[in-house]
Amino acid sequence: MRRKVVAGNWKMNMTDPEAVELVKQLKESLRSFNEVELVVCPPFTSLYSTSKMLTDSNIGLGAQNLFWESSGAYTGEVSAEMLLSVGCKYVIIGHSERRQYFGEDNQSVNRKVKSAIAGGLTPIVCVGERLEQREAGKTEAVVEDHIRGAFEGLSGEQLRKLIVAYEPVWAIGTGKTATPEQANEVHLFIRELIKELYDADLSSRTRILYGGSVKPENVRSLIEQPELDGFLVGGASLKAESFAAIAREVENSTT
Ligand code: PEP
Repeated sequence: MRRKVVAGNWKMNMTDPEAVELVKQLKESLRSFNEVELVVCPPFTSLYSTSKMLTDSNIGLGAQNLFWESSGAYTGEVSAEMLLSVGCKYVIIGHSERRQYFGEDNQSVNRKVKSAIAGGLTPIVCVGERLEQREAGKTEAVVEDHIRGAFEGLSGEQLRKLIVAYEPVWAIGTGKTATPEQANEVHLFIRELIKELYDADLSSRTRILYGGSVKPENVRSLIEQPELDGFLVGGASLKAESFAAIAREVENSTT
């Protein structure tokens, strides 16, 4: 049985006082949830302050990126060890915005995934096609390339520690959501690919989240799909009310 996850990607939003306020509200509204695994990923500048507030809560802390070296002359970068030292348990890797604006590619994603796992963090590895790739019938080829690239050289033991997020780029921040069937189809494709690359057991254990304009209004039909194990939520994670409403649907779907 795969435990469902709802993770909030705050992106480059929230000053530190705003982040503290949002976490305060989230703690209150999410307090009674115990089936769904909850994660928030504030900007680096608020990891420390929010981590203090999340100790002994049911909400885990994640970062939005990391660098694969452990320390040294890498101005502006942050290592797995540094993230752990401020209480992070998760880290988003290979988000499409990082691929688009910061030149991330399969190779850097792979190095980051390995360093996150080695450092004891759970990577949330993002994969997904752009609109023109979907329209050209290349969705599976792109997703396969992202998965093979991210997993290159990973043992089954390492794979167990990560979470995959399928995020069609055309659905991120656009208000367009993949239909539940479209999402499920790609999730199934990823699961089959993991089976081919590893084995059936690992394939059935790997958690695959969907991301792309998830809102309280569309979450129920998405979570009914058998291959969806939760969500990576962008815009709707910036308000306690909408993030809690999404988490509630997922919590309810488990009972
Ligand atoms: C994301 O950036 O991971 C995301 C899914 O964003 P949104 O929910 O805003 O589409």
